[in-house]
Amino acid sequence: MTHSHPNLTADASSLSVPTDENGGLALWFKRCPACQALAFPPTLPGCAACGHSLDAVEPHAEGGPFFLREFVTLHVPLVDGIKTPLIVGEVEVAPGLIRQAVIEVAAEAELALGQSMRPVLSGEADGSSRRCVFVPVAQERS
Ligand SMILES: [Zn+2]
Repeated sequence: MTHSHPNLTADASSLSVPTDENGGLALWFKRCPACQALAFPPTLPGCAACGHSLDAVEPHAEGGPFFLREFVTLHVPLVDGIKTPLIVGEVEVAPGLIRQAVIEVAAEAELALGQSMRPVLSGEADGSSRRCVFVPVAQERS
């Protein structure tokens, strides 16, 4: 398992929680008690904004919407185990807090900058390699 892009391959259960029967997810955050900034992933030891320890903070879940800030189609597998072409985006999960994530749409043409996104569970039907990806809010999953 590689750690170079942890949020592309991380175990979805540590970062998110199911919100419905259709794969919908909410993301776990911690809110810094010192400066009120949201921290993601919740496994961070300290606040990225002020450095305050988050060890004693209970995580809470937020379902978004989150906002698409950049996207690109990868044609070369930069991370072991991913299939290309793959659309990777930068999603603003909290004000100023941007994370790279896999965007699960058929083609870039379905995407627009600033679009509302929501996290869903994706992966093999047998439960292997399930991961958190983002889809446009308005899009029904097939
Ligand atoms: Zn802080």
